[in-house]
Amino acid sequence: MSLGDMLVIIMKDTKYQNMPKNYKCENCGSNVDAPMHCGHAMHIEDLDDGKHWVCWMGTGCGKKEYTACCDSPSLAAL
Ligand SMILES: [Zn+2]
Ligand SMILES: [Zn+2]
Repeated sequence: MSLGDMLVIIMKDTKYQNMPKNYKCENCGSNVDAPMHCGHAMHIEDLDDGKHWVCWMGTGCGKKEYTACCDSPSLAAL
């Protein structure tokens, strides 16, 4: 692994460690709490099999089905 690759991984991890924990849906007004994994809030990723909450360590560590609050959710971080 090159130094460049390692740097990219470190930057990615830091980014995903600081994901917002609370969201509000701009469509229906529901509050949505991100599940926790490995000490940090999970984030939503569009995977091949649909939207999922994903651990900051990646899908190999933690993956949880994302249940939409309404027909066209639009989540904004609080
Ligand atoms: Zn909604
Ligand atoms: Zn995890």
